Amino acid sequence: MIDKARVVLKKYYGYSSFREGQEKIITAITQGRDTLGIMPTGGGKSICFQVPALLYSGTTLVISPLISLMKDQVDSLNTVGIPATFINSSLSAKEVHERLRSAKEGQYKLLYVAPERLESEHFRELLKSLTISLLAVDEAHCISQWGHDFRPSYRSIAKLIQELPKRPVVTAFTATATEAVTQDIAKQLALNSPTVVVTGFDRKNLSFAVSRSEDKRSFLLRYLKQNKEQAGIIYAATRKEVEGIYEYLHKRGFAVGKYHAGLGDAERTGAQEAFLYDDIRIMVATNAFGMGIDKSNVRFVIHYNMPKNMESYYQEAGRAGRDGEDSECFLLFSPQDIQIQKFLIEQTHMSPERKAQEYKKLQMMMDYCHTPRCLRKYILDYFGEENVSETCNNCSNCNNTGELRDITQIAQKIFSCIMRMREVFGLTMVAEVLKGSNNKKVLQNRFHTLSTYGLLKEYTLKEITELMKVLVAEGYIHLTESQYPVAKLTPKAVVVLKNEAKVLRKMEPARHKAEEDSTLFEALRRLRKEIAQQANIPPYVVFPDTTLSEMSKHLPLDEEALLSISGVGEVKLQKYGSLFLSVIRKYVEEQGLQPLPTSEAKKSSLQTDSKKPEGIVKGTAKETDKTPSHLLTYNLFQQGKSLEEIARERDLTIITVQEHIVRSCLEGYRVDWDALISPEHEQLILAAIKRLGADKLKPLKEALPDEIDYFALRGVICKHNFGDRISNRKVRA
Ligand code: ADP
Ligand code: MG
Ligand code: ZN
Repeated sequence: MIDKARVVLKKYYGYSSFREGQEKIITAITQGRDTLGIMPTGGGKSICFQVPALLYSGTTLVISPLISLMKDQVDSLNTVGIPATFINSSLSAKEVHERLRSAKEGQYKLLYVAPERLESEHFRELLKSLTISLLAVDEAHCISQWGHDFRPSYRSIAKLIQELPKRPVVTAFTATATEAVTQDIAKQLALNSPTVVVTGFDRKNLSFAVSRSEDKRSFLLRYLKQNKEQAGIIYAATRKEVEGIYEYLHKRGFAVGKYHAGLGDAERTGAQEAFLYDDIRIMVATNAFGMGIDKSNVRFVIHYNMPKNMESYYQEAGRAGRDGEDSECFLLFSPQDIQIQKFLIEQTHMSPERKAQEYKKLQMMMDYCHTPRCLRKYILDYFGEENVSETCNNCSNCNNTGELRDITQIAQKIFSCIMRMREVFGLTMVAEVLKGSNNKKVLQNRFHTLSTYGLLKEYTLKEITELMKVLVAEGYIHLTESQYPVAKLTPKAVVVLKNEAKVLRKMEPARHKAEEDSTLFEALRRLRKEIAQQANIPPYVVFPDTTLSEMSKHLPLDEEALLSISGVGEVKLQKYGSLFLSVIRKYVEEQGLQPLPTSEAKKSSLQTDSKKPEGIVKGTAKETDKTPSHLLTYNLFQQGKSLEEIARERDLTIITVQEHIVRSCLEGYRVDWDALISPEHEQLILAAIKRLGADKLKPLKEALPDEIDYFALRGVICKHNFGDRISNRKVRA
């Protein structure tokens, strides 16, 4: 059975091997056993039930907590050619019935349902008429009160299982590993002596870093400038903080969005979608953002504030790098963060015991921010993983080779200034005095007469404040817990003032990323975005970053080579293959690279035995690769050949040939669409465009008879020039 599963994995998903845990889980499920899969975020849980769904007869019912999650997964399944759909509150009653009817006819391998639906007895009754052989509960921790996202409606799943005429194999998946939650899931779902598979919690592709010293805003600026093309999330503790960071970045021209519970539904959904679709690359958000995102190419997660506990931290940071590519997680700690979290705990109506528990977790979180040990080890220890090695060489503590510098003298100057100012001012004012500024308040207080006035005048105000913040983090200076914190010295500072101890600071070395040529990767990304926009799906559903980066490393030049890239399955090859190939070929040519001869080159068109054709020339099997592939197709078409003939002659799929024709048309070559689209179809399409507009293809396709394909839609759009928006984008490709 697992061999069959592997074939499915390659054929549809384009992956050549299962990941840790996936194989065990899939084996158990295909043997008909109830299964509980516990894998970290990004571990690949979806495939664990999607692959068995294809091997089982009937329909697999998937319970998934959020509309956006469902849509995402269904989009992904459809793009690889697996029939799936969802039922949730975004649909009208009529649509629900239609989808259920099709499901009954066995048209879908997977049916995603929102848990709220199951609360309705009527709906459960309807489900009885389907052949449900497998049930998958995604994000299964939602069923447990002990989990962090308890959803009462998840409790109805058990009712459904009982009521179904034939009990399906029941499977559940979560990233939450605590013992209490695991047991609760098994109990609440009444799993039948389940196979429990727990994989390691390490996310090797994530690097972890804590910064306690740096000015947060300047860190953001520097990091975001250095990582211009990357998508990432910035988590902040409060709405106000989110607004502030958002404004700050927005003003500086970053493509940034915001998300918190204080915004309206529409605004939040809009921001989330813009992020999923790569329209904005940075999301500034509170912890309200995230449960619903499966975006696989999040390259960094920056915590602008320390979160309340390690569970939240690892879950939020874990949203980086789901695709397995190297990604970075930063935590920017400042002592005020503790105050915020304490305040938030005090705001709740928890029992004293629960509060004490929360404070304990908060302390563990603070320890993470201060530990000199390996951060990864700290995390994995926290989650109870055994035999974790002492160093990982991929966290800021393991990698901190920065020199230790003796900053005792500067520290003494700062401490004595605070003392002279009688410990009743904040850090800013102390810095002004040390800098020797002529600011009105300094003069009013006659601080210019202090012996410490101007002692650090060779530094900038910012440098002085930053240094003081380090001294705060290291426990030399205490900031009072108020809106305008006042700086006071701790006993630790007094010892330094007496020259009885030194202050050492490990300088954080600058991070340097290896410079790689990313021209092709970026070109592939632009193409991916265009395709995604036209199909109205998120870019990572077209291909994940890993696939694009493999393409840019291996430079596949024909379909066979492309198929060997991880993430390229048969359907995606048909749909997108030729488009990606032409971008890669163009790059190879521009760079004057000499790739190894490829199978297609041997077969036909890539052999360069003639000189560069002038403009559009007659298409023959001996064309050189100097003429873009789509124009070769176009030439043959202009010679009067049918699309089928061209496909045969050029050894391409019909979809690729269609893609070539559309592309040529978008590039301004005249195409005789009347030879390709019947007048009846054209009329129908035009009527639909009148109602729905030509911006998005999917709604048009859905509104028209099945026999009208995307090709005809795009043809009519091209012919009548509705596609200005599309063509502008296309021309540049
Ligand atoms: P989870 O639900 O566990 O957080 P997903 O199911 O969303 O994770 O998978 C995360 C990413 O890993 C997806 O982009 C998925 O395509 C990819 N993936 C899953 N299994 C494999 C595999 N065997 N080989 C390569 N990539 C995989
Ligand atoms: Mg998942
Ligand atoms: Zn480490």
